[in-house]
Amino acid sequence: MESNQTQKPPIIWLNVTVFVVTFAVAVIGTPLWAYYHGFDWVQIGMFALAFTFGGISITAGYHRLWSHRTYESHPALKVIFALGGAFAIQNSILHWSSDHRIHHRHVDDNDVDPYSAKRGFWYSHIGWMLREYQKHRYTDYTNCRDLQKDKVVMWQHKYYLPLVLATNFGIPIAFGVIHGDIWGAIILIGFTRLVLNHHTTFFINSLAHIWGSQPYTEKNTARDNGILALFTFGEGYHNFHHIFENDYRNGIYWWQFDPTKWLIKSASWVGLTRKLRETPADRIEKARATLLLKNIQERLSVMPNASHRLQIIEQEYDALVSRMSEYYEAQKRLIDLKKENLLKKYEKAILVQQLQILKFDFQKQKRNWLTLTSSYA
Ligand SMILES: [Zn+2]
Ligand SMILES: [Zn+2]
Repeated sequence: MESNQTQKPPIIWLNVTVFVVTFAVAVIGTPLWAYYHGFDWVQIGMFALAFTFGGISITAGYHRLWSHRTYESHPALKVIFALGGAFAIQNSILHWSSDHRIHHRHVDDNDVDPYSAKRGFWYSHIGWMLREYQKHRYTDYTNCRDLQKDKVVMWQHKYYLPLVLATNFGIPIAFGVIHGDIWGAIILIGFTRLVLNHHTTFFINSLAHIWGSQPYTEKNTARDNGILALFTFGEGYHNFHHIFENDYRNGIYWWQFDPTKWLIKSASWVGLTRKLRETPADRIEKARATLLLKNIQERLSVMPNASHRLQIIEQEYDALVSRMSEYYEAQKRLIDLKKENLLKKYEKAILVQQLQILKFDFQKQKRNWLTLTSSYA
């Protein structure tokens, strides 16, 4: 490599073959089979279920549990995610997480980020897996020492290939035998489902770094994209994710489509997950407001006679930040006091009332801020 920097590293033929063959069967075989034999609703239902199993094992398991440790999981659920990840053929948990941690740490750095979006759509989508770009660190898992202590992770890493074969042939064939159409099941639930599991995940590395908005940070290429979230079990809110990566949520608002979050949260009600980590709301709101202020400052700085307008906006921003911290601090104090059970009834009533006032002030200031800044958005 030192001798010739322009020469591309060798092709990884196994990966190329898997991607090409599965894609060809999906786009050619599926319509042909649909035309000559047809698929019934049971097969389509199973297809949706299998796609969800593979996809959510990656998002809830590989990504939010293992790569970022945003919550803790019951071993039974870990085993399900480990099997689902092998079913989605996205390498072992250990390897995937190692890549992903480097991606976050060195995001957009073309030499280090394994799927740097700055190297273009094709590279970040799939190209990075087609050649031996990062061979030198292929088995270096020093950034995943914590995962090396996880028995499920190491078991899946050791038996990755047999698990891939067992799930990818076993699940479609078993279903096909029961349902009575083995080839139809292999094509639809084996191949087409796998291709969808692949490319929807790959879109997070490619499209979610190209297409969408940047409400929280412009320090990297990651975007928030509600449409992408629909196909990726909620991972489309990637701008939020890259700034608050330790949060088990990607879509933080109730109206944002994040079924991975819903799964993790509802699993906590039956004891399958615990210690769900959330970013404090004031940090999230402040990140949004600060970025908005920065953008307006930049825009106004090149306009003539804008210094007065700029001054007003900066004042309103300062007022917003102080109302915000007053309110969230009071809220936190009240929660802490409640936890310690130190409050008398009348004290609690007073604090709750004070909190209401602070909340009102904060919301009023937030409305002012949004009205004032909306013309610059
Ligand atoms: Zn991530
Ligand atoms: Zn990313």
